[in-house]
Amino acid sequence: MGDIKKFKNEVTPTWCPGCGDFSVLRALQSAAVDLNINNHDLVAVSGIGCSGRISGYLKAYGFHGIHGRSLPIAQGVKIANPNLTVIALGGDGDGFAIGTNHTIHAMKRNIDITYIVMNNQIYGLTKGHTSPLSKKDFITKSTPFGHVEDPLKPGFLALASGSTFIAQGFSAYQDQLIDIITKAINHKGFSFVNVFSPCVTFNKINTYQWFRDNLVKLENEEAYDQSNFNGAVNKYLETGGLFTGILYESETMEYQERLPINKSQIIVDSDLDITGDLDMLLEEFM
Ligand code: SF4
Repeated sequence: MGDIKKFKNEVTPTWCPGCGDFSVLRALQSAAVDLNINNHDLVAVSGIGCSGRISGYLKAYGFHGIHGRSLPIAQGVKIANPNLTVIALGGDGDGFAIGTNHTIHAMKRNIDITYIVMNNQIYGLTKGHTSPLSKKDFITKSTPFGHVEDPLKPGFLALASGSTFIAQGFSAYQDQLIDIITKAINHKGFSFVNVFSPCVTFNKINTYQWFRDNLVKLENEEAYDQSNFNGAVNKYLETGGLFTGILYESETMEYQERLPINKSQIIVDSDLDITGDLDMLLEEFM
């Protein structure tokens, strides 16, 4: 693990002690160190929720956006400046309720960014009600008699939507999580990392121990071939989605390589003088 001081700022996280999101922050910082990324070349864009605070805890460019909209902003940043390493981050409510449409289309587009979901199967910031990934029969403040719906399957949705890198991690498996995030950033195309990140305050069912007892590590299965799409579908069904490791990776041309433009038309490299237009635009909001 690299020295993560390089990506630490002066802001003290306000997450509850033991929250799984601490581990995701550390893993991202460590992966960025291992990949020798400059602070000014890293951009973290987050949505709303406890997990959304993460962009404020990194010594890098950050944008704490609105609920479910981290992906459109992250894609815009990458399109404007493809030299940047762009990470979108959020919770399971952010990415698979209000932001689901953006999640599906970013995956389909195969744009070269990494999307990390801190999945705690509940809404933490709003004090514990069901999310789209909450288990059936789960008793929460919004479902006092038990949740009647089945959870959405994020990895399965990612397979169906065309994500070219799909992996899952667990906050307690720090080394594996660093390795996954490093590979996700290195992947050319859209990389999706679903992290089981326990909410120790409001989810007393899917605890650290529950995940330790139920998750299988794909890296322990020597015969598993992560380039085989059908195999990935079968593995997802066989494990019920309870695994860590890389489920699927394929080499497919990413979005910007497909665009019929040359380098001088990319915003960061263009000679566009937008000062005048920008002033006009700003005046509209005054
Ligand atoms: Fe983490 Fe849950 Fe606390 Fe939010 S409420 S900071 S998700 S432990």
